[in-house]
Amino acid sequence: MQLTRRDFSRLGALGIAAHLAPGALRAQSNQNAQAGQKKIGYAVIGLGRIAGHFMPGTRNTTNSQITALVSGHRDKADRIAAEYNIPASSIYSYENFDEIAKNPAVDAVYVALPNSMHAEYTIRAAKAGKHVLCEKPMATSVADCEKMIAACKAANVKLMIAYRCHYEPTNLRAVKLIRDGALGQVQAIQSAFGFNISPGEWRLNKQLAGGGPLYDVGIYSLNACRYLTGEEPDQISAYASVIDHDGRFNEVEENVAWTMRFPSGIVASCTTTYGANMDGYFKVYGSKGWLQVDNAFVYQGLHLRAEYSGTKLDEPNPARDPSQFQAEAEHFSHCIQTGQQPQSPGEEGLRDMQYIAEIYRSAGINT
Ligand code: NAD
Repeated sequence: MQLTRRDFSRLGALGIAAHLAPGALRAQSNQNAQAGQKKIGYAVIGLGRIAGHFMPGTRNTTNSQITALVSGHRDKADRIAAEYNIPASSIYSYENFDEIAKNPAVDAVYVALPNSMHAEYTIRAAKAGKHVLCEKPMATSVADCEKMIAACKAANVKLMIAYRCHYEPTNLRAVKLIRDGALGQVQAIQSAFGFNISPGEWRLNKQLAGGGPLYDVGIYSLNACRYLTGEEPDQISAYASVIDHDGRFNEVEENVAWTMRFPSGIVASCTTTYGANMDGYFKVYGSKGWLQVDNAFVYQGLHLRAEYSGTKLDEPNPARDPSQFQAEAEHFSHCIQTGQQPQSPGEEGLRDMQYIAEIYRSAGINT
């Protein structure tokens, strides 16, 4: 089965289509480099764990570089600035961040802050005239997502949500196998992702995180079910629980299980937790066979297996961290350079937030 125009427009909405044309974006990005186009300069806001993966990822790109830092810890910022040849004048605090508007070396910001801070810094960056690459989850409420989209539209800047799996080859291979009909009619999907969280994390603070593991890692399963099916769920039901009364889960839930039905009739069943280590995976069952991706949502070690119509696939992906961040940065910079819409725009983050709200409603959790 070939991809139809309708498939492409659906996938486009899900942020996947362009990547099914292998190498297309990279070829374009190389052309831009050859044409001597200036690299897109990023200000990184929040110098925590994920920023520590994103920044090295930009080093391998032809079109992106880190040109400014925003941090509450000047010593940490000075250390990183030295690594990336960033002048002291391009190190900002959260207080003087708005002065970034006057910095011509900054074209875009990468928002890598706790979830509830994404909205404020996206809106401030847009007002400063900078494009925004914002980490997932996009925000902690549907209303904030809508404000972020509106602010970027008003400022005529691009907004992309950092759904790195949309740019990751093994996830894209799974989507293509399904779209090409290898599995026949998809009937059901199972997916899970979770980890055993340490006490004291901001992720356990509802005000900063918005909620528990669903906002943080369950969102990968939710988003994957949408890009694997190419459909939007029309029915959702969910349960949540707290088992460990050890103080970690005073504000957010520990476990969530949810099911979704899609318009074609495909059913999906997902689980997330902060109480156990649960390697991220998805398994898709169709009338002609199945496919499974293990470590589907982590930075390396992804592994696709499938069996359908007499074919057996066993495809470990040798790519290492930070290649996924390289692909993500390359894509957004390319969009900025060419005026193209990002494949995972704000609207994609907004949809997940709407489904998260629905899952919480069904599970009886107040948002
Ligand atoms: P982190 O705790 O390691 O880093 C957060 C940064 O924000 C730190 O530098 C911290 O100093 C700063 N910060 C500013 N104000 C803060 C406050 N009030 N409380 C706590 N920290 C504050 O977190 P992280 O794991 O890097 O997560 C940051 C964002 O990235 C989250 O939205 C998370 O969901 C997302 N994330 C995405 C991926 C991915 O693979 N795309 C992976 C991990 C995290």
